[in-house]
Amino acid sequence: MKALLKTKKGSNGVELLEIEEPRVQSHELKVKIHAAGICGTDMHIIHDEYSCNYPVIMGHEYSGTVVEIGSEVTNFEVGDRIVSLTAAVKCEECTYCRSGLYMLCEKRLSIGSGVNGAFAELMVIPEKIAYKIPDNVSLDEAALTEPLACMVRCVIERGTVKAGDYVLVSGPGAIGLLTMQVATASGGNVIVIGTSQDKERLNLATELGAFATIVIDEEDVQKRISEITRNVGVDVAFECAGVGPSANNCLKLLKKTGLFVQVGLYGKKVEIDMDLALTKEINITNGFASEPTSWERALRLLEMKQVNVAPLISTKLPLHEWENAIGMVDNKEAFKVLFVPNGN
Ligand SMILES: [Zn+2]
Ligand SMILES: [Zn+2]
Repeated sequence: MKALLKTKKGSNGVELLEIEEPRVQSHELKVKIHAAGICGTDMHIIHDEYSCNYPVIMGHEYSGTVVEIGSEVTNFEVGDRIVSLTAAVKCEECTYCRSGLYMLCEKRLSIGSGVNGAFAELMVIPEKIAYKIPDNVSLDEAALTEPLACMVRCVIERGTVKAGDYVLVSGPGAIGLLTMQVATASGGNVIVIGTSQDKERLNLATELGAFATIVIDEEDVQKRISEITRNVGVDVAFECAGVGPSANNCLKLLKKTGLFVQVGLYGKKVEIDMDLALTKEINITNGFASEPTSWERALRLLEMKQVNVAPLISTKLPLHEWENAIGMVDNKEAFKVLFVPNGN
């Protein structure tokens, strides 16, 4: 089968290879990948900013159909449409595993970085981490369950948005617009900020329910936020751009005692004005990927149509167009790019 791997460090470390099909063990499912999204983490892996076990098939945001089950599998059958958690391997014994916090397990190996992922025609996963896709959710939409679950973790499980809150989302990429929708579903009035390069994305934010949008290099963002919040500042700010200036903007625009939530990975060390955070008594939190609780809620949000992910999918490409796909993400030309390793 064809698969896109990170084989080594360096700019020539991404390779599309013909490799042997994976085999299912007793408790595993073989999944025919329908679609697999390119995530910020994949870009960090490609650019050597996130550690992984070379050689590894990348990709952890996917949807697919079960084509074979192991001899001991009880909860799934061939034909089931599924998505899955990314923590494929964990110890199940440490203090974190026993609290259901699999992403924090020292022995965790995730799909697409620690073990083979979804940028391939087929993938094998443990039955335990799979979830069936609700009937009224398409396979394309379901491919965004993983990033949505990460946003559920940030907005609801680690952060808190209360009805009536003014909420800031800095960075209107796919992650920002998912955050915006989860925060809106939670009762927040969400203001999305971006640069003039992001205008199309900001328009989409409005279509998807943003309370307001601000173009920060054309408008006085501080003044607009003061007007909207009657000189108080926002209650919660989600940093979704993964760059230092965006984090500092969030700290500036938050009200005193507000909540700062780090959503995006920076991929490097950044300068953040911690004295400003201290003098405003800002609470700081973050979310690292997602846990089983986040997945159940994410699937319910999709099923109940409280979040609309379809408009975020801009491009679907076969694996052999991987260079084109990565270039589009790097140059911010596309929104969410999905690989369709088996065709549409
Ligand atoms: Zn991801
Ligand atoms: Zn563990």
